[in-house]
Amino acid sequence: MADKITMQDDGTLAVPDNPIIPFIEGDGTGVDIWPAAKLVLDAAAGKHGKTIEWKEVLAGEKAFNETGDWLPQATIDDFNEYLIGIKGPLTTPIGGGFRSLNVAIRQIMDLYVCLRPVRWFSGVPSPVKEPQLVDMVIFRENTEDIYAGMEVEAGTPEALKMIEMLHDAFGWEIREGSGIGVKPISKMGSQRLQRAAIEYAVKRGRKRVHWVHKGNIMKFTEGAFQKWGYELVREEFSDVAIGWDDCGGDAGDKILVQDAIADIALQQVLTRPSEFDVIATMNLNGDYLSDALAAQVGGIGIAPGANINYVTGHGVFEATHGTAPKYAGQDKVNPSSVLLSGVMMFEHLGWQEAADDIVRAVEATIGDKVVTYDFARLMDGATEVKCSEFASAIVDRL
Ligand code: NAP
Repeated sequence: MADKITMQDDGTLAVPDNPIIPFIEGDGTGVDIWPAAKLVLDAAAGKHGKTIEWKEVLAGEKAFNETGDWLPQATIDDFNEYLIGIKGPLTTPIGGGFRSLNVAIRQIMDLYVCLRPVRWFSGVPSPVKEPQLVDMVIFRENTEDIYAGMEVEAGTPEALKMIEMLHDAFGWEIREGSGIGVKPISKMGSQRLQRAAIEYAVKRGRKRVHWVHKGNIMKFTEGAFQKWGYELVREEFSDVAIGWDDCGGDAGDKILVQDAIADIALQQVLTRPSEFDVIATMNLNGDYLSDALAAQVGGIGIAPGANINYVTGHGVFEATHGTAPKYAGQDKVNPSSVLLSGVMMFEHLGWQEAADDIVRAVEATIGDKVVTYDFARLMDGATEVKCSEFASAIVDRL
């Protein structure tokens, strides 16, 4: 009998051997990559005596066509009830009342961490000389910053009212014809993300945590993020971590917590990747950083992601690329992004051996130069296979 994953009093998940896991197939190439990923996930789980009962839930075009709703409440209810879910890419509805379905799911469920591990798989074509040095985990804040969606359009009565109000209250001169966005960064929102990053570093034996920010310019938002981060280290983690200023860079056995200005960080992750390990940052910086880093290790066809609330236990694991509509239904694109999101999900559930098996099998498949079109066009002597064939090749190597 399949069972639910539940949250225990000690803040850890209770995971049965046969959990019910909701999934969103995804629009566009979702029809190709999801079945491919599922084939591998089921095979790896089965090898370790686990069976997943997949429960389809709807969002995006499929939901709209079947229910008239882009993001049905039933989907959110199922994700809430079963705690852990996985999704393919979703079309951003134009004029559907949503800025983005992905952002909506993150905000409705308060999934405050966008987790993006970035590492290189041997053999994957990369634009950098030493991609093997890239092994970073990005904790991107998911619910605040300029992504909170508080914007007014230039020339509208709302924008005029805002300009007038800011002038009257603070004496700020804002040029007529400006659009305005609001960037809220809270102490609670910052510290729960930073706490998750340090706890992850402790659990996974990682040695460094960077706060990446633009606090030299935005002192009370990005600068406050940095300040609150160091306060958190002193108040809650002094036994396992220490800030740079408190140790001069010599953390001994503890995790070294330091910070980097976002523009410099974007250079250094490229020029000195081995100096970065766990990175925690706000929403917009995190967006730029995760895609820039993904490009170093093979691009968006392979980068996995997850959105997690570590307090409630909710997590939605996801492909990080879009729906690539021009390839939809062609059994062509690379299923690795959603598959490796499934690997992250297995790790999160404590199914480390099954996760490791998949990683080894993916590496062996790419090592044999059996790859989808996106890698084949960058590799010499590759055998280009379809999306489903790539999945079967991975299963053969499990
Ligand atoms: P996209 O779907 O990510 O596709 C851009 C390009 O990335 C593709 O043309 C393809 O490159 C490459 N690509 C994407 N998925 C791939 C895969 N699985 N394997 C190999 N290569 C892959 O971006 P878009 O065309 O800008 O967006 C299309 C739709 O997706 C929009 O509605 C957008 O809003 C939505 N979107 C959703 C998400 C999400 O659900 N998380 C994220 C981003 C965008 P080549 O052309 O070079 O082959």
